[in-house]
This record gives sequence, C-alpha cells and structure tokens, in this order.
Amino acid sequence: MLQTLRTEVYEANLELVRRGLVIYTFGNASGVSREEGLIVIKPSGVPYETMRPADMVITDLNGQTVEGTLRPSSDLPTHAALYRAFPAIGAVAHTHSRHATAWAQAGREIPCFGTTHADYFCGAVPVTAALTPAEIEGDYEANTGLAIIRVLQGRDPLGCPAALVAGHAPFCWGKSAADAVHTAVIVEELAAMAWQTLTINPAARPLATELRDKHYFRKHGPNAYYGQK
Ligand SMILES: [Zn+2]
Repeated sequence: MLQTLRTEVYEANLELVRRGLVIYTFGNASGVSREEGLIVIKPSGVPYETMRPADMVITDLNGQTVEGTLRPSSDLPTHAALYRAFPAIGAVAHTHSRHATAWAQAGREIPCFGTTHADYFCGAVPVTAALTPAEIEGDYEANTGLAIIRVLQGRDPLGCPAALVAGHAPFCWGKSAADAVHTAVIVEELAAMAWQTLTINPAARPLATELRDKHYFRKHGPNAYYGQK
C-alpha cells in the first residue's frame, strides 16, 4: 500500500541523517496521501541502519494504524494535527538539529537577518508559546501540534514552512517529503547564521522590509521570477 510514498518517506528519514540533522533516532519524517487520507511515518526507535521502506507505518489522519507491525513514531499525533489543520501540506520533518534547537530552547524566534532567510521565509521563523503543565500532562504530542497551529494562525503554512516548538525543536513541512527535508536543512542553516550574526553584532536588526519582500516575492507567489520557468 502507498509504495511510492513509503519509499519517499523512508528516503526523507535517511536524508535527515545524511545531512547531519538527526543523530541516533532523534528525528522523524512523514508524508500524507490526501486521496487515501493516510499518513506514512517512520517507526518508533528503529535504527536507521536497519530500517527499510517496509518498516514505515501507515495510519489514518487520527493516528490509528492501518498497516504495519511496528509502532509509529511517538510524535505521530503532532504530525497528524498538522495534516488535519493544513490541507495544503504533504509532509512533515522533525529534527533536533543543533542550531535550530538552540533557538527553540531559548524560546526565541529566528529573526530574518538577511536575504538567505528572506528567500525562504517572509519574516521570522516563529516559536510557539511554552506548553502549559496541563498540555504536557494531557495529550502532549497532539498539544505540541496545536501550539504550532496557534503560532501559524493567519499565515499560509506553505509561506511559513516551519516553526520552533519552545523548549523542544523545529517542525518543518512542505508539499513533499523532499520539500520538508529541504526546509529542515535550510532552517538549520538560517539558525546558525542568525546566531553568528548576533554574536558579531548583538544589536543587529532584522532585514529592511523592502529587501525582505523583494527576496521573498521574487521566489514565491504570482509575481515570482527566480529560476527557470
Ligand atoms: Zn522532538
């Protein structure tokens, strides 16, 4: 079932490791088939060295396993909440990559300091509010998803394809599994750049709105002109 998506999700999980964004079993990637209403996600705690496409777990949008003998990633309820809230997205990638996680742990959004950032995000990479004790003790992983959805309120999720969960780490998404991984790589790079920017100049200010919008909208939206047609 869903052989292509299964392979794409498997490859996305391996790519997170190859890119140095995931050590041991810290991260997870998933994809969704909108036609079938099914999620394909990495199994929980299986070493990447021995993982195979057949080990991916298939669940419905409420996280109930439909196919697979292994337990799905424990973050599945976060992924599922994002799929239910954001119909345009096709995949989610979660890592604890060092620099992006440092910003999440600091409870700080990643400011848009330069055009590299503005090529991908029209503004800061947002950070959620800290989860309350009740949210942590309750349905923790689903509440993590709800915190992300709240911080994205009023924005196009494909125009802001990542958020930092306070005290935790980044969640990234995109139209495809490869897109979500690409965003995870970019967010890590932007996080490192922003940290170094503030190290060199603690008074650095976000990019001027005109320059930010110039870079964002030449790559995104109806008037984009970057790249080949
Ligand atoms: Zn995590």
